[in-house]
Amino acid sequence: MKTILGNETDDMKANEIEADVIVTAVALGFVGTRWYLDQPCRFDVEHPSPKEYDVWHPTDVGQRRMKPDKEEEFLKDYQAFLHVMSAMSYVLDKNDPGLGAFLKAAQSAEWAPGALITGRAGGEMLEADERHKRMRGRWSRHFAGLVTERPTWTEVYEGRGAYTGMIDDPVNDDIMIQPTKRVIDNDTNRWHPGLDYVNWGLIKGPAEKGLADINLRADRKLGMGPLPGDVRAPERIGYIHGMSSAINRCVSSGAWCTPYELATGEVTTKMASCFACTTYMYAAGFPPSSIHLGRGESWIPPAPHLVSGEKDDMAMPIHYENAITQSLATRWHWEIYHYLRLGSRYLYRAMEVQEEDQRALDSAGIEKTVIKYVNPTHVVPVIALKTALEQLWRKHLDQAADIGSVGGNLFLDALTMHDSDWKRVGRTLQPVNDYYVNEAAAALTKTEQERLAMKIAAGDILVG
Ligand SMILES: [Zn+2]
Repeated sequence: MKTILGNETDDMKANEIEADVIVTAVALGFVGTRWYLDQPCRFDVEHPSPKEYDVWHPTDVGQRRMKPDKEEEFLKDYQAFLHVMSAMSYVLDKNDPGLGAFLKAAQSAEWAPGALITGRAGGEMLEADERHKRMRGRWSRHFAGLVTERPTWTEVYEGRGAYTGMIDDPVNDDIMIQPTKRVIDNDTNRWHPGLDYVNWGLIKGPAEKGLADINLRADRKLGMGPLPGDVRAPERIGYIHGMSSAINRCVSSGAWCTPYELATGEVTTKMASCFACTTYMYAAGFPPSSIHLGRGESWIPPAPHLVSGEKDDMAMPIHYENAITQSLATRWHWEIYHYLRLGSRYLYRAMEVQEEDQRALDSAGIEKTVIKYVNPTHVVPVIALKTALEQLWRKHLDQAADIGSVGGNLFLDALTMHDSDWKRVGRTLQPVNDYYVNEAAAALTKTEQERLAMKIAAGDILVG
């Protein structure tokens, strides 16, 4: 089997590590791009879902009580995410002083029935919270209410990760209701682990709970129904999220339209766009009201060559007009390619700076070891990624290689290795991440005197 970056191995773990590096590079390159453009950049943590509370009150937070095990899990994940953000900031700052502090972590807006994620046209310079926009069209408001209150009646998918794409058209009251669309991608330029892997890319539930096939269930509360048939190499399964569909529809419906994603059903309560959608939204000029670094499992942008992967719904939705999907995908591929190049440069440079920092300590006679800034297990893929991107650039110059069709493929391939994006970043920068984890743990055992000494050392308290 060849790995995503083209190495020969039979170890699936190698793909996981490469996916870590690729997604981390895209994320770092995305942050760097916002920095150069002076655009706010924030990754958000979700609020727990109302289902995770013993007592839940819609408006009075003081009256809520989380289920103890859920609360522990939530706080653990929240802390872990913040450590990953610290690691990310540290490595970014090593590249460009100030870039680390520029990146922000926050909490997204709280979910409530009918709550929407907005893609705000031209909102790049706005803070995320200011990008929310109310629907104005009478019919879009009506249907948003209907999908929220009676998802079963509107026949939209309402299982895990159910985000229904909608548009707001205040002029012509055009309507679109498009849940996540499962598709089959036969692009031979993309990676595939081989013939042993049937239905590659399919979203799976936990096998130990007997839910491995959950996405194939006909019950819309659980799945998207059966596949048209087994999907084998070189084909793979992909998922077009509602927001991407809504953006395509906005182009043909009018410049006054706004794309939305509606968290649908009872199990989907994240009020932020997945990172993959985020990249597409920026490429199309509709940046999101909130971004999370969770899962974008087998995410794929609409494109002319995709065919339906739902046996019960073999038509591709009408809002995917080839000329529109093509032009948006071209721009997206280019942007991802450049995020990858910038991000991989950051990772590579972080390794060089680590060595420089060590030499500086050595020559000053300080007998300390500088920790690695990139996980030693991820170093080879970092170099392989850098080389692959440089080769593609040369091919573009010499043979007019079409980066607008293939530039984002490594990212798409990485997204077929399902995991949370923030966990991938955490693994790529593992030693730095561990440092923050350990520091936080050590801080808990410190005496008051030690805590104050630390504050003085950090310049938080100035002493004469
Ligand atoms: Zn998404």
